[in-house]
Amino acid sequence: MTLERAYLSPPEAAAGPDFLRSLVFLSVLSGMLSMPLIFNAAFYRVLREPFVLWHSALTLSLLATILTSSELAVVLVDPPAMTLSWMTTMIFGLTVASGALFTHSFIEPSHMHPLLRRALIYCAVWAVLLSAFHATFPFVARPIQSTAYTAAFAPVLVIFFLSVADALRRGSRAAKFQAIGYIPMIMSGLVRLITGVVPWLESNDAMLLFYLGCACEVLFTTLGVADRFMTIRRQRDKARFEADALKSISERDALTGLLNRRAIEQNFEKYRDEGYRALAVLDLDHFKAINDAHGHGTGDAVLKAVGEVLQTDPQVRAFRLGGEEFVLLVRGEDAQLRAERSRQAIPSAVANAVPGLGHPVTASMGISDAPPNADVRFAELYKQADKLLYDAKLSGRNRTKSTLSQKPRDDANPMIDGAVKHARSEKLSS
Ligand code: GH3
Ligand code: MG
Ligand code: MG
Repeated sequence: MTLERAYLSPPEAAAGPDFLRSLVFLSVLSGMLSMPLIFNAAFYRVLREPFVLWHSALTLSLLATILTSSELAVVLVDPPAMTLSWMTTMIFGLTVASGALFTHSFIEPSHMHPLLRRALIYCAVWAVLLSAFHATFPFVARPIQSTAYTAAFAPVLVIFFLSVADALRRGSRAAKFQAIGYIPMIMSGLVRLITGVVPWLESNDAMLLFYLGCACEVLFTTLGVADRFMTIRRQRDKARFEADALKSISERDALTGLLNRRAIEQNFEKYRDEGYRALAVLDLDHFKAINDAHGHGTGDAVLKAVGEVLQTDPQVRAFRLGGEEFVLLVRGEDAQLRAERSRQAIPSAVANAVPGLGHPVTASMGISDAPPNADVRFAELYKQADKLLYDAKLSGRNRTKSTLSQKPRDDANPMIDGAVKHARSEKLSS
Protein backbone atom coordinates (compact mmCIF):
# COMPACT_ATOMS: atom_id res chain seq x y z
CA MET A 1 0.00 0.00 0.00
CA THR A 2 2.97 2.36 -0.17
CA LEU A 3 3.36 4.55 -3.20
CA GLU A 4 6.13 2.89 -5.13
CA ARG A 5 5.54 3.95 -8.73
CA ALA A 6 4.39 7.13 -10.47
CA TYR A 7 4.00 7.74 -14.16
CA LEU A 8 2.79 10.34 -16.59
CA SER A 9 0.22 9.39 -19.15
CA PRO A 10 -1.03 11.31 -22.20
CA PRO A 11 -4.42 13.03 -21.64
CA GLU A 12 -6.09 10.90 -24.35
CA ALA A 13 -5.51 7.77 -22.25
CA ALA A 14 -7.70 9.27 -19.52
CA ALA A 15 -10.62 9.47 -21.91
CA GLY A 16 -10.10 6.05 -23.52
CA PRO A 17 -12.59 3.15 -23.22
CA ASP A 18 -10.29 1.15 -20.92
CA PHE A 19 -10.11 4.01 -18.47
CA LEU A 20 -13.87 4.51 -18.53
CA ARG A 21 -14.51 0.78 -18.12
CA SER A 22 -12.21 0.73 -15.13
CA LEU A 23 -13.97 3.79 -13.66
CA VAL A 24 -17.38 2.13 -14.04
CA PHE A 25 -16.07 -1.06 -12.42
CA LEU A 26 -14.58 0.86 -9.48
CA SER A 27 -17.74 2.93 -9.04
CA VAL A 28 -19.92 -0.18 -8.96
CA LEU A 29 -17.56 -1.75 -6.44
CA SER A 30 -17.64 1.37 -4.25
CA GLY A 31 -21.44 1.42 -4.41
CA MET A 32 -21.52 -2.22 -3.34
CA LEU A 33 -19.26 -1.47 -0.39
CA SER A 34 -21.59 1.29 0.77
CA MET A 35 -24.54 -1.07 1.20
CA PRO A 36 -23.23 -2.87 4.33
CA LEU A 37 -22.95 0.53 6.03
CA ILE A 38 -26.72 0.92 5.70
CA PHE A 39 -27.39 -2.64 6.92
CA ASN A 40 -25.05 -2.12 9.86
CA ALA A 41 -26.83 1.08 10.88
CA ALA A 42 -30.10 -0.88 10.93
CA PHE A 43 -28.54 -3.81 12.85
CA TYR A 44 -26.96 -1.51 15.39
CA ARG A 45 -30.28 0.12 16.22
CA VAL A 46 -31.55 -3.30 17.34
CA LEU A 47 -28.38 -4.91 18.63
CA ARG A 48 -25.75 -2.67 20.20
CA GLU A 49 -22.83 -5.02 19.55
CA PRO A 50 -19.37 -3.50 18.98
CA PHE A 51 -18.60 -5.86 16.08
CA VAL A 52 -21.26 -4.08 14.00
CA LEU A 53 -19.39 -0.79 14.45
CA TRP A 54 -16.01 -2.35 13.69
CA HIS A 55 -17.45 -3.93 10.58
CA SER A 56 -18.58 -0.49 9.45
CA ALA A 57 -15.10 0.90 10.18
CA LEU A 58 -13.53 -1.94 8.16
CA THR A 59 -15.93 -1.39 5.25
CA LEU A 60 -15.31 2.36 5.29
CA SER A 61 -11.55 1.92 5.27
CA LEU A 62 -11.72 -0.59 2.39
CA LEU A 63 -13.91 1.90 0.54
CA ALA A 64 -11.32 4.61 1.21
CA THR A 65 -8.58 2.23 0.01
CA ILE A 66 -10.36 1.81 -3.32
CA LEU A 67 -10.95 5.56 -3.63
CA THR A 68 -7.35 6.53 -2.88
CA SER A 69 -5.48 3.76 -4.63
CA SER A 70 -7.38 3.84 -7.93
CA GLU A 71 -8.13 6.16 -10.83
CA LEU A 72 -11.14 7.38 -8.85
CA ALA A 73 -8.81 9.51 -6.68
CA VAL A 74 -7.42 11.21 -9.77
CA VAL A 75 -10.84 11.79 -11.30
CA LEU A 76 -12.57 12.93 -8.13
CA VAL A 77 -9.92 14.94 -6.23
CA ASP A 78 -6.58 14.69 -8.08
CA PRO A 79 -4.50 15.24 -4.93
CA PRO A 80 -0.71 15.83 -4.98
CA ALA A 81 1.28 12.57 -5.07
CA MET A 82 2.68 13.02 -1.56
CA THR A 83 -0.80 13.67 -0.09
CA LEU A 84 -1.99 10.50 -1.76
CA SER A 85 1.04 8.70 -0.35
CA TRP A 86 0.41 9.57 3.32
CA MET A 87 -3.31 9.04 2.87
CA THR A 88 -2.83 5.51 1.51
CA THR A 89 -0.40 4.77 4.35
CA MET A 90 -2.85 5.96 7.03
CA ILE A 91 -5.80 4.24 5.40
CA PHE A 92 -3.85 0.99 5.22
CA GLY A 93 -3.07 1.27 8.95
CA LEU A 94 -6.71 1.98 9.78
CA THR A 95 -7.89 -0.93 7.60
CA VAL A 96 -5.60 -3.34 9.44
CA ALA A 97 -6.65 -1.90 12.81
CA SER A 98 -10.38 -2.07 12.12
CA GLY A 99 -9.98 -5.56 10.61
CA ALA A 100 -8.18 -6.74 13.77
CA LEU A 101 -10.77 -5.16 16.08
CA PHE A 102 -13.61 -6.54 14.00
CA THR A 103 -12.19 -10.07 14.35
CA HIS A 104 -11.57 -9.41 18.05
CA SER A 105 -15.22 -8.53 18.66
CA PHE A 106 -16.84 -10.73 16.01
CA ILE A 107 -15.57 -14.20 16.95
CA GLU A 108 -17.99 -15.73 19.45
CA PRO A 109 -17.05 -15.76 23.16
CA SER A 110 -14.93 -18.80 24.12
CA HIS A 111 -14.19 -19.54 20.44
CA MET A 112 -10.75 -17.94 20.50
CA HIS A 113 -7.81 -18.24 22.89
CA PRO A 114 -7.95 -15.19 25.22
CA LEU A 115 -4.29 -14.39 24.50
CA LEU A 116 -4.94 -14.24 20.76
CA ARG A 117 -8.00 -12.10 21.32
CA ARG A 118 -5.95 -9.66 23.39
CA ALA A 119 -3.11 -9.75 20.83
CA LEU A 120 -5.53 -8.50 18.17
CA ILE A 121 -5.98 -5.26 20.14
CA TYR A 122 -2.21 -4.79 20.29
CA CYS A 123 -2.09 -5.43 16.51
CA ALA A 124 -4.62 -2.63 15.96
CA VAL A 125 -2.64 -0.17 18.08
CA TRP A 126 0.62 -1.25 16.41
CA ALA A 127 -0.82 -0.78 12.88
CA VAL A 128 -2.08 2.73 13.63
CA LEU A 129 1.11 3.91 15.37
CA LEU A 130 3.33 2.43 12.67
CA SER A 131 1.30 4.01 9.86
CA ALA A 132 1.13 7.37 11.60
CA PHE A 133 4.92 7.34 11.96
CA HIS A 134 5.51 6.26 8.38
CA ALA A 135 3.06 8.86 7.03
CA THR A 136 4.51 11.68 9.15
CA PHE A 137 8.22 10.91 8.64
CA PRO A 138 8.40 9.20 5.24
CA PHE A 139 12.13 9.91 4.72
CA VAL A 140 13.69 9.11 8.10
CA ALA A 141 15.31 5.87 6.90
CA ARG A 142 14.64 6.31 3.25
CA PRO A 143 16.48 3.39 1.60
CA ILE A 144 14.89 0.76 3.85
CA GLN A 145 11.88 2.56 5.33
CA SER A 146 9.25 1.18 2.98
CA THR A 147 10.55 -2.37 3.34
CA ALA A 148 10.83 -2.02 7.12
CA TYR A 149 7.30 -0.62 7.29
CA THR A 150 5.93 -3.54 5.27
CA ALA A 151 7.96 -6.08 7.27
CA ALA A 152 6.64 -4.63 10.54
CA PHE A 153 3.21 -5.95 9.57
CA ALA A 154 4.43 -9.57 9.47
CA PRO A 155 3.59 -10.22 13.17
CA VAL A 156 0.13 -8.73 12.63
CA LEU A 157 -0.46 -11.12 9.73
CA VAL A 158 0.74 -14.10 11.80
CA ILE A 159 -1.52 -13.20 14.75
CA PHE A 160 -4.46 -12.68 12.43
CA PHE A 161 -3.93 -16.09 10.77
CA LEU A 162 -3.51 -17.81 14.13
CA SER A 163 -6.67 -16.15 15.48
CA VAL A 164 -8.87 -17.21 12.58
CA ALA A 165 -7.32 -20.71 12.53
CA ASP A 166 -7.84 -21.10 16.28
CA ALA A 167 -11.45 -19.89 15.98
CA LEU A 168 -12.08 -22.33 13.10
CA ARG A 169 -10.58 -25.17 15.15
CA ARG A 170 -12.96 -24.32 18.01
CA GLY A 171 -15.92 -24.45 15.62
CA SER A 172 -16.56 -20.72 15.27
CA ARG A 173 -19.24 -19.94 12.70
CA ALA A 174 -18.13 -16.31 12.47
CA ALA A 175 -14.58 -17.37 11.55
CA LYS A 176 -15.86 -19.40 8.58
CA PHE A 177 -17.36 -16.30 6.98
CA GLN A 178 -14.11 -14.44 7.57
CA ALA A 179 -11.90 -17.20 6.22
CA ILE A 180 -13.88 -17.49 2.96
CA GLY A 181 -14.10 -13.71 2.56
CA TYR A 182 -10.34 -13.24 2.83
CA ILE A 183 -9.35 -15.82 0.17
CA PRO A 184 -9.14 -13.45 -2.88
CA MET A 185 -7.36 -10.81 -0.77
CA ILE A 186 -4.79 -13.39 0.36
CA MET A 187 -4.38 -14.54 -3.24
CA SER A 188 -3.70 -10.98 -4.40
CA GLY A 189 -1.13 -10.67 -1.61
CA LEU A 190 0.52 -13.92 -2.75
CA VAL A 191 0.65 -12.74 -6.38
CA ARG A 192 2.31 -9.48 -5.26
CA LEU A 193 4.74 -11.30 -3.00
CA ILE A 194 5.74 -13.98 -5.51
CA THR A 195 6.05 -11.65 -8.52
CA GLY A 196 7.91 -9.14 -6.34
CA VAL A 197 10.39 -11.64 -4.91
CA VAL A 198 11.07 -14.03 -7.81
CA PRO A 199 13.62 -12.17 -10.03
CA TRP A 200 12.55 -13.53 -13.42
CA LEU A 201 8.84 -12.71 -12.92
CA GLU A 202 7.57 -9.26 -13.74
CA SER A 203 6.26 -7.52 -10.63
CA ASN A 204 2.45 -7.55 -10.61
CA ASP A 205 0.37 -5.58 -8.10
CA ALA A 206 -2.77 -7.68 -8.92
CA MET A 207 -4.96 -4.61 -8.40
CA LEU A 208 -8.04 -6.17 -10.00
CA LEU A 209 -7.78 -9.21 -7.73
CA PHE A 210 -7.20 -6.88 -4.78
CA TYR A 211 -10.36 -4.88 -5.54
CA LEU A 212 -12.37 -8.06 -5.97
CA GLY A 213 -10.83 -9.18 -2.69
CA CYS A 214 -12.16 -6.05 -0.95
CA ALA A 215 -15.65 -6.71 -2.32
CA CYS A 216 -15.53 -10.42 -1.44
CA GLU A 217 -14.25 -9.71 2.06
CA VAL A 218 -16.97 -7.14 2.71
CA LEU A 219 -19.65 -9.36 1.18
CA PHE A 220 -18.81 -12.42 3.32
CA THR A 221 -18.26 -10.51 6.53
CA THR A 222 -21.61 -8.75 5.92
CA LEU A 223 -23.25 -12.16 5.55
CA GLY A 224 -21.45 -13.21 8.72
CA VAL A 225 -22.68 -10.13 10.59
CA ALA A 226 -26.25 -10.78 9.39
CA ASP A 227 -25.98 -14.43 10.45
CA ARG A 228 -24.61 -13.47 13.84
CA PHE A 229 -27.29 -10.83 14.20
CA MET A 230 -29.98 -13.46 13.66
CA THR A 231 -28.32 -15.87 16.12
CA ILE A 232 -27.95 -13.25 18.86
CA ARG A 233 -31.48 -12.04 18.27
CA ARG A 234 -32.84 -15.57 18.50
CA GLN A 235 -30.90 -16.15 21.74
CA ARG A 236 -32.13 -12.85 23.15
CA ASP A 237 -35.76 -13.59 22.25
CA LYS A 238 -35.47 -17.06 23.79
CA ALA A 239 -33.96 -15.61 26.99
CA ARG A 240 -36.75 -13.01 27.16
CA PHE A 241 -39.39 -15.67 26.61
CA GLU A 242 -37.88 -17.84 29.37
CA ALA A 243 -37.63 -14.86 31.71
CA ASP A 244 -41.31 -14.05 31.05
CA ALA A 245 -42.26 -17.69 31.60
CA LEU A 246 -40.26 -17.81 34.87
CA LYS A 247 -41.86 -14.56 35.99
CA SER A 248 -45.34 -15.87 35.35
CA ILE A 249 -44.50 -19.15 37.14
CA SER A 250 -43.11 -17.22 40.10
CA GLU A 251 -46.33 -15.20 40.30
CA ARG A 252 -48.68 -18.20 40.37
CA ASP A 253 -49.73 -20.52 43.12
CA ALA A 254 -49.12 -24.10 42.00
CA LEU A 255 -52.12 -25.66 43.72
CA THR A 256 -54.98 -23.37 42.65
CA GLY A 257 -53.38 -21.63 39.65
CA LEU A 258 -54.31 -18.27 41.20
CA LEU A 259 -51.89 -15.36 41.29
CA ASN A 260 -49.91 -15.19 44.52
CA ARG A 261 -48.73 -12.57 46.96
CA ARG A 262 -45.70 -11.64 44.84
CA ALA A 263 -48.00 -10.86 41.88
CA ILE A 264 -50.25 -8.62 43.92
CA GLU A 265 -47.35 -6.81 45.56
CA GLN A 266 -45.55 -6.18 42.28
CA ASN A 267 -48.58 -5.15 40.25
CA PHE A 268 -50.73 -3.46 42.86
CA GLU A 269 -50.36 0.02 41.34
CA LYS A 270 -51.27 -1.31 37.91
CA TYR A 271 -54.40 -3.03 39.28
CA ARG A 272 -55.37 0.13 41.14
CA ASP A 273 -55.02 2.14 37.91
CA GLU A 274 -57.27 -0.44 36.21
CA GLY A 275 -59.97 0.44 38.75
CA TYR A 276 -59.52 -2.37 41.31
CA ARG A 277 -59.91 -0.21 44.39
CA ALA A 278 -61.64 -2.57 46.85
CA LEU A 279 -59.60 -5.25 48.61
CA ALA A 280 -61.12 -8.21 50.42
CA VAL A 281 -59.26 -10.72 52.58
CA LEU A 282 -61.08 -14.01 52.73
CA ASP A 283 -60.25 -16.93 55.03
CA LEU A 284 -61.92 -20.34 55.12
CA ASP A 285 -63.58 -21.20 58.41
CA HIS A 286 -62.31 -24.15 60.44
CA PHE A 287 -60.26 -25.37 57.54
CA LYS A 288 -57.86 -27.23 59.80
CA ALA A 289 -60.78 -29.46 60.83
CA ILE A 290 -61.22 -30.55 57.17
CA ASN A 291 -57.58 -31.55 56.96
CA ASP A 292 -57.82 -33.35 60.29
CA ALA A 293 -61.02 -35.19 59.42
CA HIS A 294 -60.51 -36.00 55.72
CA GLY A 295 -56.80 -35.71 55.09
CA HIS A 296 -54.56 -33.18 53.40
CA GLY A 297 -55.56 -34.34 49.90
CA THR A 298 -59.21 -33.44 50.53
CA GLY A 299 -58.07 -30.12 52.00
CA ASP A 300 -56.19 -29.46 48.76
CA ALA A 301 -59.26 -30.33 46.68
CA VAL A 302 -61.30 -27.82 48.73
CA LEU A 303 -58.69 -25.11 48.13
CA LYS A 304 -58.79 -25.86 44.37
CA ALA A 305 -62.58 -25.61 44.29
CA VAL A 306 -62.44 -22.30 46.17
CA GLY A 307 -59.76 -21.05 43.71
CA GLU A 308 -62.04 -21.92 40.80
CA VAL A 309 -65.21 -20.33 42.12
CA LEU A 310 -63.37 -17.12 43.02
CA GLN A 311 -62.40 -16.69 39.35
CA THR A 312 -65.92 -16.63 37.92
CA ASP A 313 -66.58 -12.87 38.13
CA PRO A 314 -64.59 -10.87 35.53
CA GLN A 315 -64.64 -7.81 37.81
CA VAL A 316 -62.98 -9.77 40.62
CA ARG A 317 -59.30 -10.72 40.62
CA ALA A 318 -58.50 -13.52 43.04
CA PHE A 319 -55.13 -14.26 44.68
CA ARG A 320 -54.07 -16.97 47.09
CA LEU A 321 -51.92 -15.43 49.77
CA GLY A 322 -51.02 -18.72 51.44
CA GLY A 323 -52.76 -21.48 53.38
CA GLU A 324 -56.52 -21.01 53.16
CA GLU A 325 -56.34 -17.27 52.84
CA PHE A 326 -57.35 -15.43 49.65
CA VAL A 327 -57.36 -11.82 48.54
CA LEU A 328 -59.94 -10.40 46.14
CA LEU A 329 -59.40 -7.15 44.24
CA VAL A 330 -62.74 -5.87 43.03
CA ARG A 331 -63.68 -3.00 40.75
CA GLY A 332 -66.90 -1.23 39.92
CA GLU A 333 -69.61 0.59 41.88
CA ASP A 334 -70.97 -2.67 43.31
CA ALA A 335 -67.57 -3.96 44.46
CA GLN A 336 -68.93 -4.78 47.89
CA LEU A 337 -71.75 -6.84 46.45
CA ARG A 338 -69.52 -8.70 44.04
CA ALA A 339 -67.02 -9.65 46.75
CA GLU A 340 -69.87 -10.84 48.95
CA ARG A 341 -71.35 -12.89 46.11
CA SER A 342 -67.97 -14.55 45.58
CA ARG A 343 -67.74 -15.42 49.27
CA GLN A 344 -71.26 -16.80 49.35
CA ALA A 345 -70.62 -18.96 46.31
CA ILE A 346 -67.95 -20.95 48.17
CA PRO A 347 -70.07 -23.45 50.16
CA SER A 348 -72.04 -24.82 47.21
CA ALA A 349 -69.01 -24.84 44.88
CA VAL A 350 -67.00 -26.81 47.44
CA ALA A 351 -69.90 -29.16 48.16
CA ASN A 352 -70.20 -29.89 44.44
CA ALA A 353 -66.48 -30.38 43.86
CA VAL A 354 -65.67 -32.26 47.08
CA PRO A 355 -68.70 -34.30 48.16
CA GLY A 356 -68.85 -36.03 51.49
CA LEU A 357 -67.41 -33.33 53.71
CA GLY A 358 -70.42 -33.54 55.99
CA HIS A 359 -70.83 -29.81 56.58
CA PRO A 360 -70.61 -26.69 54.45
CA VAL A 361 -67.29 -24.97 54.00
CA THR A 362 -67.77 -21.28 54.69
CA ALA A 363 -65.47 -18.27 54.67
CA SER A 364 -65.12 -15.05 56.62
CA MET A 365 -64.15 -11.82 54.91
CA GLY A 366 -62.94 -8.29 55.60
CA ILE A 367 -63.25 -5.60 52.92
CA SER A 368 -61.67 -2.22 52.71
CA ASP A 369 -61.18 0.14 49.78
CA ALA A 370 -58.93 2.94 48.58
CA PRO A 371 -60.61 6.32 48.10
CA PRO A 372 -60.57 7.40 44.42
CA ASN A 373 -57.26 8.99 43.33
CA ALA A 374 -55.62 8.11 46.65
CA ASP A 375 -52.14 6.59 46.48
CA VAL A 376 -52.78 3.73 48.90
CA ARG A 377 -50.26 0.91 49.21
CA PHE A 378 -51.18 -2.76 49.22
CA ALA A 379 -49.80 -3.26 52.73
CA GLU A 380 -52.04 -0.54 54.20
CA LEU A 381 -55.20 -1.74 52.53
CA TYR A 382 -54.40 -5.35 53.39
CA LYS A 383 -53.84 -4.46 57.04
CA GLN A 384 -57.27 -2.78 57.26
CA ALA A 385 -59.04 -5.67 55.55
CA ASP A 386 -57.21 -8.24 57.67
CA LYS A 387 -58.30 -6.49 60.84
CA LEU A 388 -61.92 -6.59 59.61
CA LEU A 389 -61.49 -10.27 58.82
CA TYR A 390 -60.36 -10.81 62.38
CA ASP A 391 -63.53 -9.02 63.57
CA ALA A 392 -65.63 -11.26 61.32
CA LYS A 393 -63.99 -14.37 62.82
CA LEU A 394 -64.58 -13.08 66.35
CA SER A 395 -68.24 -12.29 65.62
CA GLY A 396 -68.90 -15.93 64.78
CA ARG A 397 -67.38 -16.58 61.27
CA ASN A 398 -69.19 -17.01 57.92
CA ARG A 399 -69.69 -13.27 57.56
CA THR A 400 -68.24 -10.09 56.14
CA LYS A 401 -67.04 -6.95 57.89
CA SER A 402 -66.47 -3.88 55.85
CA THR A 403 -65.43 -0.22 55.94
CA LEU A 404 -67.39 0.36 52.76
CA SER A 405 -70.60 2.41 52.97
CA GLN A 406 -72.76 -0.18 51.24
CA LYS A 407 -72.74 -2.83 53.97
CA PRO A 408 -73.50 -6.41 53.07
CA ARG A 409 -75.79 -8.48 55.22
CA ASP A 410 -73.85 -9.25 58.36
CA ASP A 411 -75.58 -12.51 58.93
CA ALA A 412 -75.42 -16.13 57.95
CA ASN A 413 -75.00 -17.17 54.34
CA PRO A 414 -78.33 -17.74 52.56
CA MET A 415 -76.59 -20.11 50.14
CA ILE A 416 -75.61 -22.41 52.96
CA ASP A 417 -79.02 -23.99 53.13
CA GLY A 418 -78.55 -25.42 49.67
CA ALA A 419 -75.03 -26.56 50.47
CA VAL A 420 -76.14 -28.20 53.68
CA LYS A 421 -78.92 -30.02 51.89
CA HIS A 422 -76.49 -31.14 49.22
CA ALA A 423 -73.99 -32.32 51.84
CA ARG A 424 -76.73 -34.12 53.73
CA SER A 425 -77.99 -35.92 50.66
CA GLU A 426 -74.36 -36.96 49.91
CA LYS A 427 -74.10 -38.34 53.40
CA LEU A 428 -77.39 -40.20 53.10
CA SER A 429 -76.48 -41.71 49.77
CA SER A 430 -73.09 -42.85 51.05
P1 GH3 B 1 -60.21 -20.24 61.32
O1 GH3 B 1 -61.63 -20.45 61.09
O2 GH3 B 1 -59.90 -19.52 62.58
O3 GH3 B 1 -59.55 -19.62 60.14
O4 GH3 B 1 -59.57 -21.68 61.51
P2 GH3 B 1 -58.73 -22.51 60.49
O5 GH3 B 1 -58.67 -23.93 60.92
O6 GH3 B 1 -59.24 -22.31 59.12
O7 GH3 B 1 -57.32 -21.80 60.55
P3 GH3 B 1 -55.93 -22.30 61.02
O8 GH3 B 1 -54.99 -21.19 60.75
O9 GH3 B 1 -55.97 -22.83 62.43
O10 GH3 B 1 -55.56 -23.51 60.07
C1 GH3 B 1 -55.22 -23.35 58.75
C2 GH3 B 1 -54.85 -24.71 58.22
O11 GH3 B 1 -54.65 -24.70 56.82
C3 GH3 B 1 -53.60 -25.24 58.85
C4 GH3 B 1 -52.82 -25.83 57.71
O12 GH3 B 1 -52.42 -27.14 57.92
C5 GH3 B 1 -53.78 -25.75 56.54
N1 GH3 B 1 -53.13 -25.54 55.29
C6 GH3 B 1 -52.32 -24.51 54.94
N2 GH3 B 1 -51.93 -24.65 53.65
C7 GH3 B 1 -52.50 -25.77 53.16
C8 GH3 B 1 -52.47 -26.45 51.91
O13 GH3 B 1 -51.83 -26.01 50.96
N3 GH3 B 1 -53.18 -27.58 51.78
C9 GH3 B 1 -53.91 -28.08 52.83
N4 GH3 B 1 -54.60 -29.20 52.62
N5 GH3 B 1 -53.94 -27.49 54.02
C10 GH3 B 1 -53.26 -26.35 54.20
MG1 MG C 1 -59.07 -20.35 58.32
MG1 MG D 1 -55.88 -18.70 57.91
